[in-house]
Amino acid sequence: MQLLFSNNQHPPVAPARIFCVARNYHLHAKEMQASVPSAPVFFMKPLSALVLPTQPIPYPTHGNQLEHEAELVVLIGKSGKPTTEQDALSFIAGLSLGLDLTLRDVQAKLKEKGLPWEMAKSFDGSAPVGLFTAWNNQWSLDNLTFSCDVNGDLRQSGQSKDMVFTISQLLVELAKLWMLQPGDLIYTGTPAGVGRLHVGDEVTLSSELLGEFTWNIN
Ligand code: ZN
Repeated sequence: MQLLFSNNQHPPVAPARIFCVARNYHLHAKEMQASVPSAPVFFMKPLSALVLPTQPIPYPTHGNQLEHEAELVVLIGKSGKPTTEQDALSFIAGLSLGLDLTLRDVQAKLKEKGLPWEMAKSFDGSAPVGLFTAWNNQWSLDNLTFSCDVNGDLRQSGQSKDMVFTISQLLVELAKLWMLQPGDLIYTGTPAGVGRLHVGDEVTLSSELLGEFTWNIN
């Protein structure tokens, strides 16, 4: 699978790794009855989690409460370790919107037992991602807005200025553990309003800057 850009503004990119961030918006942490971490908490998904726009999202068979988490997704364009927030911006190849799909019932059981989250968050099809818009250094990462609709009803509305850790801070922190590589994807956390999905639902992510992407749950 290759990651595609809107209007072919950049050649397709082979995905490398998928990183996600837990609880990066205050109101989402609150709705999960969790506190905001003092340093970013990262987890990973395999590449088999990716679903390109218009491809069907298979409803997983090992849980009953699939939830949408709409997120801004960063695509890395070069390898290395940014050390400053300014330097971090030069590692970004593009931005898109994606879903960190979560089986909330499975996650609740794992959390209760203190077990790892992969079975709740890293299954096949758990990381739909839209087309990318090539990075433009005129952009301000503090002003991005995006939303998630299910069957035409607004469910989530996010603004990057509400992030606990900014995109630049996330890249600097991530690179302390994993040297960034071209094709790395970072799902930057979800705003409040996460909710259930059912077979037959149509999920749309949209942003004035990044476009609109739709998936159907099968
Ligand atoms: Zn998430």
